[in-house]
Amino acid sequence: CGIVGYIGHRDAYPIIIKGLQRLEYRGYDSAGVALYDGKNINLSKTKGKVEDLKKKSESTISLDGTLGIGHTRWATHGVPNDVNSHPHYSNSGNLVIIHNGIIENYESIKKELIKRGYSFSSDTDTEVLVNLIEEVKNTEDVKLGKAVQIALNQVVGAYAIAVFDKNKPDEIVVAKLGSPLAIGVGENEFFIASDASPFIEFTNNAVYLEDEEMAIVRLGKEIKLRKIKDDAIA
Ligand code: GLU
Repeated sequence: CGIVGYIGHRDAYPIIIKGLQRLEYRGYDSAGVALYDGKNINLSKTKGKVEDLKKKSESTISLDGTLGIGHTRWATHGVPNDVNSHPHYSNSGNLVIIHNGIIENYESIKKELIKRGYSFSSDTDTEVLVNLIEEVKNTEDVKLGKAVQIALNQVVGAYAIAVFDKNKPDEIVVAKLGSPLAIGVGENEFFIASDASPFIEFTNNAVYLEDEEMAIVRLGKEIKLRKIKDDAIA
C-alpha cells in the first residue's frame, strides 16, 4: 500500500503514477488518483495494477492539474473493488482523502454520521474518516488542518493520510500514526509519499513525519508540523 501527493507547478499526474509504481513493492490490490484541475476534482480508481489505473485514467478523466493525490490500496475493510479503492470523497464532494492503515472504531463513527444524514458508497473505514473530517469542519467551523486534528483525536487505529479541499487548493493536510509518511520539499512545490522514492529525483530535502504528527503543506509557506494531540493548531 502506498501514498503519493503533489502540490506545486508541475503536472501532478505523471509524478503520482511514477511514484505509485515505485511504491508497488509495498504490495496492493487497487490504485487510484484524484487531480484538481483548477475548478474540479477528477478522480479515477480501479481494482488491479497501477498500469490498469493508467489505462483507465488516460481514457476517462482530464489529467490536468498541479495538485493531486494517488494511492495503492491493500484492502482491510471492504473487498478489493473499484468503489472501495481510494481516493474517497466526502459527501459534499469538496474533500478527498487517501489513507493507508486501519480506523478501528469506524463502525461507531459511521453510525453516528448516518444519524446526522451522511451516506456511504463504499465499505471502507476510510470513507468514514473523510466524512468525520467534513462533519467536524462544518460543525466546528474550522479550517481543514484543525478539522483533521479534531477528527483524528476521535479515531482509534493506524494511518498515513493525505487530504485536500477543492475550495482551498493551495494545501494538502497529512498525518501519520503507524504507517510511514514523508514530505519532499522543493522550490515552491511539495511531494508527499510513503517513502522518498517518488520524489528523490526532484529534491533531497525530505521531512519524515513522526508518529502522532501532522503537517499542513501549503504553497508559499514553510511546512507547519503539529502534534495531533496538541490543540495549538489555528
Ligand atoms: N483500511 C483502508 C481500506 O481498507 C486502507 C487500506 C490500506 O492501507 O491500503 O480501504
